[in-house]
Amino acid sequence: MPRIRVKVDEDLCIGAASCVTIAPDTFQMNAENKAYVLDHGTEPEGSKYERWMEVTDDEMENILLGAQSCPTLAIFIFDEAGTQLFPDM
Ligand code: SF4
Repeated sequence: MPRIRVKVDEDLCIGAASCVTIAPDTFQMNAENKAYVLDHGTEPEGSKYERWMEVTDDEMENILLGAQSCPTLAIFIFDEAGTQLFPDM
């Protein structure tokens, strides 16, 4: 399974929560109304805005859809080599 890094830029996040609606196993809102990153529904300790995870193709698609739904493009996805997969450079 591909390993990816998912990151929310908390300065860009405006709390629109569309990522949470689309990909709730990966994104949740915290008390500051910012999205943070889960690993397959598992709550990290504290609020983590960045996380490595292994994903299936379906999960990758779901996370990409969540990222694409963000009105401020606050969600970044990188592959294992560090190449930014989204937003497209
Ligand atoms: S869709 Fe974007 S702005 Fe909205 S909560 Fe998610 S990361 Fe934040």
